[in-house]
Amino acid sequence: MARIVQKFGGTSVGDVERIGHVARRVKREVDAGNEVAVVVSAMTGVTNQLVERVREAARLHDAREYDAVVATGEQVAAGLLALALQAIGVSARSFLGWQVPILTDDAHGRARIQSIDPTLLLQRMADGQVPVIAGFQGIGPDRRITTLGRGGSDTTAVAIAAAVAAERCDIYTDVDGVYTCDPRIVTKARKLARITYEEMLELASQGARVLHTRSVEMAMNHRVRVQVLSSFDDSPGTLVVDEDEIMEQRTVSGIAYSRDEAKVTLTHVADRPGVAAAIFGPLADASINVDMIVQNVSADGETTDLTFTVTRADLDKTMQLLQARQAELGYRALLPDPKVVKISVIGIGMRSHAGVALTMFRTLAERGINIQVISTSEIKVSVLIAEEYTELALRVLHTAYGLDVT
Ligand code: ASP
Ligand code: MG
Repeated sequence: MARIVQKFGGTSVGDVERIGHVARRVKREVDAGNEVAVVVSAMTGVTNQLVERVREAARLHDAREYDAVVATGEQVAAGLLALALQAIGVSARSFLGWQVPILTDDAHGRARIQSIDPTLLLQRMADGQVPVIAGFQGIGPDRRITTLGRGGSDTTAVAIAAAVAAERCDIYTDVDGVYTCDPRIVTKARKLARITYEEMLELASQGARVLHTRSVEMAMNHRVRVQVLSSFDDSPGTLVVDEDEIMEQRTVSGIAYSRDEAKVTLTHVADRPGVAAAIFGPLADASINVDMIVQNVSADGETTDLTFTVTRADLDKTMQLLQARQAELGYRALLPDPKVVKISVIGIGMRSHAGVALTMFRTLAERGINIQVISTSEIKVSVLIAEEYTELALRVLHTAYGLDVT
């Protein structure tokens, strides 16, 4: 007997028929003698519709009422799944965030979970009942409903798994695992049997959309074993686990890409202390996240060119802020470029193997693909290239690192 948390995403609960299918999946774990808690997200498209309605009602909306509206999608899914479970003879009860309770901070629209009291859930499971918990929501210190940010129900599931000390958190989604690269682009991509928390965290934050980044962070901090698998077929998924559970030694485990990048270049910026702070200060104040940064000394030796990236959604705002400070910053030109993509190769093996970056640079050079910006971390090398080369770059890199299925 084990205690398991199962999480079903939007497409898995897309309609009443699929919810029935999910109920049978849950029943299988119950019949195997396990204690099961389930977390659901809203039925496909529902959250988008709710967000749209909020925007129609008020462009500059109150975050508390945004949460009151968008949290409802999960309530419907949880109630329907509890009904479907009861219909096939499984004792089940739905729970909203506040009923568990799942306590969060007061950052409405992007709240963080602060604590979960597992008492009620443990009691229900011990009594043979399946709690069906609405994902993506909690209750804040002001006793109002909060939501965790888009895609947040993965985080709910991992947090519940940590709170009830579950053996495993199974995340059922519309892909059947974590691949070495996006299989829609790289047909030779392989499904990974296991991946480490660290690698998954980099993959998620560098653009792979399998798991919500914060859920991986939470799994890593609480050592929750997470399995990503499909609700539509029975193939084994991918286990996200501790490094010491990985047998196979790989240098590179996966390649991620993100099109949500925009590049900004300032030319002939004075080369003196305080200039970088003057440029990035106003951006930070406006909550604009800057990702990659390079600075080059220009030919005259007195000024530098500075290039950095932000998300595409932040590009206009960034340009505005910097244009308004032209006199103060004294740059000559301000050049935006939204047609870029960031490609990242990721693997814990990089810690002990040299030459990973070099392979990347050589492989791209052989195809005539120019690298615009580079950044690295202990287990990751990222490059910024022109968007038109995305597919080609991913395929040649996948081959170069020996990741292709044979
Ligand atoms: N329903 C929420 C969203 O669409 C949460 C989730 O799907 O994880 O963002
Ligand atoms: Mg989702």
